[in-house]
Amino acid sequence: LNRRLAEFGTTIFAEMSALATATGSINLGQGFPDTDGPEEIREAAVRALRDGRGNQYPPGPGVPELRTAVAGHQSRFHGLTVDPDTEVLITAGATEAIAAALLALVEPGDEVIALEPYYDSYAACIAMAGGRRVPVTLHPRDGAYHLDLDELRDAVTDRTRLILLNTPHNPTGTVLTRQELAAVAELAVERDLLVVTDEVYEHLVFEGEHLPIAGFPGMRERTLTIGSAGKTFAFTGWKVGWATGTPELVAAVRSAKQFLTYVSAGPFQYAVAEALRLPTEYFDELRDELRAKRDLLSAGLADAGFTVYRPAGTYFVTTDIRPLGESDGFAFCRALPERCGVVAIPNAVFYDHREQGTPFVRFAFSKRKAVLDEAVTRLKRLT
Ligand code: PMP
Ligand code: GLN
Repeated sequence: LNRRLAEFGTTIFAEMSALATATGSINLGQGFPDTDGPEEIREAAVRALRDGRGNQYPPGPGVPELRTAVAGHQSRFHGLTVDPDTEVLITAGATEAIAAALLALVEPGDEVIALEPYYDSYAACIAMAGGRRVPVTLHPRDGAYHLDLDELRDAVTDRTRLILLNTPHNPTGTVLTRQELAAVAELAVERDLLVVTDEVYEHLVFEGEHLPIAGFPGMRERTLTIGSAGKTFAFTGWKVGWATGTPELVAAVRSAKQFLTYVSAGPFQYAVAEALRLPTEYFDELRDELRAKRDLLSAGLADAGFTVYRPAGTYFVTTDIRPLGESDGFAFCRALPERCGVVAIPNAVFYDHREQGTPFVRFAFSKRKAVLDEAVTRLKRLT
C-alpha cells in the first residue's frame, strides 16, 4: 500500500459490520436499511434486465432516461435547472462521484476544506488526489452540532481549492441552515472556491429544510452537487449515484470517472429513473417513518443514559457516552457486542482532531421498529 493510503486501513463500516455478523449483534453501525426499497422499483429493475436494457455498456454519462429523471428531480424538489445532456453524470454511488470529483478537480498540494467529523471516504479520496485536507470542526453544543463560520473563514488560504460540504451531515445529523449556507456561498464567491456538496441525505430531513447550496447566488457556476439512490430509495446495494453541475465541472468529473469504472451498471439505472419519478407521497412517507424511528431510538438512548444529539436529518444519531462513565468511543464500540449485543460506530474515526471525537458514538436508526425496540432493551442493560 502506498504512503498516501497507508493511514486508512479498512473502513470502520466493514470492520463493524463484520463484528456484528461474527457476534450475532444488532447492527446499528453501518448505515443501511434492513428492508429493501419499493417493490415496484425492484420490478422495474427486473424488467430492464429481462428486456435487455442496460445489459451491455451504457453511455458514459449514464442512460438518458436516468439523466432526465435526475434533472426532473432537481427541478421538482429544489427548483434547480440542470441540462440532462451536459450537466448530469451518473456514477457508481455517491462514493464514486466523490472520488472522481476530487481526482478531477484537485491538484497535488491543493487544500480541501471538509467539515469534521467527515465521512471517511472524503479523507481517503483527498489523499488519493494528492490534496491536503483541512478539517473545520463542528462543535457539539446544546444538543446539536454547530458550524463556526469564523473558523471556516480562517481555514481558507491561497492554497484552498474547494470546500467539500455535506448536508444533511453524516455522522452528526446537522442540517445546515439558510444563513449558514448563505455564508458559505459568500465565502466561496469571495475567495473564488469550488464547492463539492454531498447531499445524499437530502430527503431525510426531520426539522428545517434541505437547501442545496447550488441554489444560492453565485453558486451555480462553482458547485458540484452529489446525490444517491442508496438512501432515498433504500437500495444501498445498487450503487447508483449522480453528480450535477455546470458542463465544465461535469465534464471534468466524467474524465476521471471514465477511467475508474468507465460506466455504471445499466439495468439499475432504468429502475432508479422510475424511482426518481415516484409521487411526492413516497418521499413524505420515507421521511415520516424515519422521523418516528429517530424519536424512538433517541428516547431509548437517553433512557439508557447516553447524552443524545438529536439529528435534524440523516439516519444517524450521535451520542456522548460520558454519562455512562465511559470516555473512549473506540473501546466502548469494540466491547459493546459482548456487553449487550449491539454494534455502533465510534465517531473518532471521522476526525483529524481525534480528541474532539473520542467520547462520541453513532447509532443508525434505518432499521425496523422491532429491531430498534430490541436494541433499546439491550442498551438499557448497560446501566
Ligand atoms: N456520502 C455520505 C455522507 C454517506 O453517508 C454515504 C454512505 N452511504 C455516501 C456518501 C456513499 O453513498 P453511496 O452508497 O451512494 O456510494
Ligand atoms: N454511508 C454509510 C455510513 O455512513 C456506510 C457506507 C459504507 O459502508 N461505505 O454508515
